[in-house]
Amino acid sequence: MVSQRDYYEVLGVERSATQDEIKRAYRKLARKYHPDVSDLPDAEARFKELNEAYEVLSDPEKRAMYDRFGSVGPSAGPGFGFRDPFDIFEEVFGRGFGFRTASRRGPRRGQDLRYDLTLTFEEAAFGCEKEIEVTRYEECPECRGSGAAPGTTPVRCPKCQGSGQVRQVQHSILGTFVNITTCPQCQGKGEVVTTPCPKCGGQGQVYATRRLSVTIPPGVDDGTQMRLSGEGAAGSRGGPAGNLYVVLHVEPHPIFQRRGDDVVVELQINVAQAALGDSVEVPTLDGDEVIDIPPGTQSGTVLRLRGKGIPHLRRHGRGDQLVLVRVNIPTKLTREQKRLFQELGRTLEPESVWREERSFIDELRDLFGLGS
Ligand SMILES: [Zn+2]
Ligand SMILES: [Zn+2]
Repeated sequence: MVSQRDYYEVLGVERSATQDEIKRAYRKLARKYHPDVSDLPDAEARFKELNEAYEVLSDPEKRAMYDRFGSVGPSAGPGFGFRDPFDIFEEVFGRGFGFRTASRRGPRRGQDLRYDLTLTFEEAAFGCEKEIEVTRYEECPECRGSGAAPGTTPVRCPKCQGSGQVRQVQHSILGTFVNITTCPQCQGKGEVVTTPCPKCGGQGQVYATRRLSVTIPPGVDDGTQMRLSGEGAAGSRGGPAGNLYVVLHVEPHPIFQRRGDDVVVELQINVAQAALGDSVEVPTLDGDEVIDIPPGTQSGTVLRLRGKGIPHLRRHGRGDQLVLVRVNIPTKLTREQKRLFQELGRTLEPESVWREERSFIDELRDLFGLGS
């Protein structure tokens, strides 16, 4: 198959790209589109396209031809054909690079799975044990993954003689080329099951639901991912199982807001408390705590309670709790309160209000979103 898209575009490189840049671009994209790791429905096609582009552009001769004619393909002469993309991948990355590489007749690593788990604010802060239910492919216990009924063994595939691939020679006016594809009879396995296992129908795997216990460490946050090695789908032909990724979501709390490992709470006090100071109770993750409001506390002041925040993830220590103080200005006054404020007002120097660069009024406007 000859790609319809421009090879430079496929790799995302300039036409003047060096061999080094081409290789780097390939490595980056191959990891992304390898059908074993990508969830994209067209991952296999993109992976093939990518390998095709790399095969041509990484070879100075083929690249020169492509630059000149806009294609290499059958016109490159008899016997020309693209190589198996998995072989190219293996050549660049080396064998055993995390995911199943070329040898499609060999072991295949199972798929990675994702599980979304929602925690309360406190569960995320202090950690917890959670039971989750995962439905996944597991190795068939009856045939131990071979797919053959107990007492029988798979036989060599008669169509491909065990190679897992079939070659098709295609003739065209431009020349002859060989098309290598996965054997349709054995799907590349190289062997076929004559008497399928009754439990899995010859698939070697069965769908099963498992309960797993997950230990959530203290300090996780929204979006934290936990990897449970080997708890993904079963591998095939002796390959290892994939991983299970538990993606954590944290519910918002009615009082506490999280900022990194600090916890922010808003505290409303009245003008008298702000001017004279007071001791007030504030909620913390560890229960209510009495804190001192110093006399002359301004609206917007942040008081810090050290070590009262969220425990650091996999580290000692905790964040802080930040108490954001809001001073409530009364909007409705009784006759008596009005009289007292007026009396108070006569004792306050008007200059003291306006001497600051930012006036008290400005600050109030900002805080409460009032117009000027
Ligand atoms: Zn079975
Ligand atoms: Zn075959």
